[in-house]
Amino acid sequence: MSVVGFDIGNLQSVIAVARNRGIDIVGNEVSNRATPTMISFGDKQRYIGESAKNQEMSNFKNTMGAIKRLIGRSYSEPEVKEFEAQFIGCQLCDVDGEVGVEVNYLNQPTKFSATQLYAMYLGKLRDTTAKEIGGTMSDVVISVPGWYTDRQRRAVQQASRIAGLNCLRVLNDSTAAALGYGITKNDLPEDKARNVVFVDLGHSSFSVSVVAFKKGELKVKSVAYERSVGGRSFDQALLDHFIGVFNEKYKIDIRSNSKAQVRLRAACEKLKKVLSANTQAPITVENLMNDIDASAMYSRDELEALIQPLLQRLEKPIQNAIADSGLSSDDIYAIELVGGSIRIPAVKQRLTEFFGRELSYTLNQDEAVARGCALQCAIASPVFRVRDFAVNDITAHPIRFKWEDANGSDDTSLDVFARYNPIPSTKMLTFYRKQAFAIEAEYADPTQLPPGTNAWISRFDIKGVEPLESGDLATVKVKARLDLSGVLNVTSAYTVEEVEVEEPAEQPEAKEGEEPAAAPEMRKVKKLVRKADLTVLQASQCLDAATLTELAKREREMHTADLLVGATEVAKNSLEEYIYEARAKVEGDYAPFIEAADQKQFLSNLMEAEDWLYDEGDDTTKDAYLEKLAGLKALGEPAAERFREDKERPKAARELRDAV
Ligand code: ATP
Ligand code: MG
Repeated sequence: MSVVGFDIGNLQSVIAVARNRGIDIVGNEVSNRATPTMISFGDKQRYIGESAKNQEMSNFKNTMGAIKRLIGRSYSEPEVKEFEAQFIGCQLCDVDGEVGVEVNYLNQPTKFSATQLYAMYLGKLRDTTAKEIGGTMSDVVISVPGWYTDRQRRAVQQASRIAGLNCLRVLNDSTAAALGYGITKNDLPEDKARNVVFVDLGHSSFSVSVVAFKKGELKVKSVAYERSVGGRSFDQALLDHFIGVFNEKYKIDIRSNSKAQVRLRAACEKLKKVLSANTQAPITVENLMNDIDASAMYSRDELEALIQPLLQRLEKPIQNAIADSGLSSDDIYAIELVGGSIRIPAVKQRLTEFFGRELSYTLNQDEAVARGCALQCAIASPVFRVRDFAVNDITAHPIRFKWEDANGSDDTSLDVFARYNPIPSTKMLTFYRKQAFAIEAEYADPTQLPPGTNAWISRFDIKGVEPLESGDLATVKVKARLDLSGVLNVTSAYTVEEVEVEEPAEQPEAKEGEEPAAAPEMRKVKKLVRKADLTVLQASQCLDAATLTELAKREREMHTADLLVGATEVAKNSLEEYIYEARAKVEGDYAPFIEAADQKQFLSNLMEAEDWLYDEGDDTTKDAYLEKLAGLKALGEPAAERFREDKERPKAARELRDAV
């Protein structure tokens, strides 16, 4: 059984597995501890992770990252269409209500929704993990930004199902970092909480969360975000700058050339990183466009000035999170930083100014979130022994329920889950009805969501309500639950009825010397008892069960096809290798062990196979390669065998001699 955490980053993702020794980070096929969050579509197969990154320049129109920014959102949202699109090489489009991409896959224009793309990526991480643990993986905890909506959280769960994974919890990323922090501390106080602020500046967004730790538990007190400032914003600022510089210097219009833009963006990211360690550095792109090698010098000071307006946007979330936590600076024990972009000196400096105090770097900034997810998976897993640690998280967005008035009451809405309501959490609502009715759930403060986001969450149809025998309104109880993953459901609805029951009345204490009453007196009391369970039908912005099954099937088919392409490539390579090796050997080592006629025939077969490989055999099936190889070996192997025997003979004779 697997105990795994995935930190899905916008740029790169990290896999952590819990083992009895502790938490390990899983290296991918090229031993990197983080895997590019990228997918690329080719003529024969999909490329995911490292191999997609390799296609970034050559196949940029069919290569994409940013799946984290797209999942569970609509193409019609202005932020998606206008803002996110600038970071994505592929063509965005609508796929059954969700944003997706249109790419050239297997030489066909093909559309994939963001949920499907996310599932493909999870499938890659699943395979990497399975290889590491030497078995299949199923259970996983996946990190998401705390600002993800119900729809986005559901979409991550559905993507997990498409990828054949069992997502035990969708965990807010800063809470994951906090869990990793808290569980390793042996000196947490029993009474007065230790308050720590977690700050994450990654590739695409910024988050601040204030967490109170006590022995064996953490409680998130407040959160705030700048959803759209991160490392890629700095790259974009540099890109805009150098497009201007190079236009002036070389008279080239880089905006008219997508490939040049992709290459310049990559050079800008590199420059930014170099400037974290150096005060100045060159930017160079060979043959950027029109055969021009573009280059310039740039300094850290210039970068700092360039990104000041972006850094300024980090101040407000910091102020808000601190204000909402109700803590003063003295109450805060430490400010812990995670995320790749905190390596920038100007970021550290501005954050220090905003907080008005020193920052702390005790967490592994790239791996803390993945570790926290694996720990959460271990806590949730029945087979894993881990120190008890309660994770009390909160929801960032308040949720309102609305319903139609049925009996002249003014109350037609209620904010059921306030901002900062704990998750998980269950609320009981009471309605008075004679017939079926519906409740609509929506985000109570749409200004917190990106412009154009549908604030609607779900509709719950409560069926089977009947008036009481007296004709009066029935009392209906509706149980609403925000679950561990921050997803809203109505878990049950039922009618209750007042019944009169008899129960023993309280007896006055028998006085000294007095005989206690033989039988206690009974009295009649009215009580609410659960009467009939009602049917709840829920409609949300997510895929229906049939579509989900269909997409899971489609994903398995694409995965099988990719594996076959991989296996075909391996078969082709081994044929090619055999041809070259055998040719050298049959004229060298094997020559004394093969008849001259056979040798001639074998060489001719090798030649024929080589020609075939460059011709019709260049692109054929795995079986065709295997068959060709077997045909060659029929002549080559006997000679190889005789050669080996001959080499073994003196050794065997020696061993025999030594033995007697
Ligand atoms: P997110 O959390 O926003 O989804 P992520 O988890 O993929 O994204 P991280 O891995 O935390 O992001 O950080 C990646 C960012 O950090 C990139 O923008 C990268 O350019 C930046 N970065 C990494 N190293 C450095 C460095 N030395 N100097 C400046 N920036 C850096
Ligand atoms: Mg991150």
